[in-house]
Amino acid sequence: MPVFCHRCGSGLPSTARFCSNCGNVVNVAAPATSRPLLRPHIGRQIAGVCMALSLAYGWDVGIVRIFTVLGFCFSGGMVGVAYLAGWIGIPEEPFPMPGPTQPQP
Ligand SMILES: [Zn+2]
Repeated sequence: MPVFCHRCGSGLPSTARFCSNCGNVVNVAAPATSRPLLRPHIGRQIAGVCMALSLAYGWDVGIVRIFTVLGFCFSGGMVGVAYLAGWIGIPEEPFPMPGPTQPQP
């Protein structure tokens, strides 16, 4: 699938991340490292829902938290319900502690 630069319109290989003609950033929709939707233990503030969403989708965690707090204030409780649903529905990240008791895959 060919990729075209949005700024100058030149054709680029599908693996290109920057335009070789003008330097414009392309292919920003595909993050380099995708991870499953898990609530991490490190870096969380309340339940890790914002951190899980930001890590899974490549969003900035600060922006996610700002929108969540604004949503708490102005959505009439909808974001609160969604946060609780994420707290319940998104599994916690397993502790990365290798040991003899951990089952081997
Ligand atoms: Zn370009």
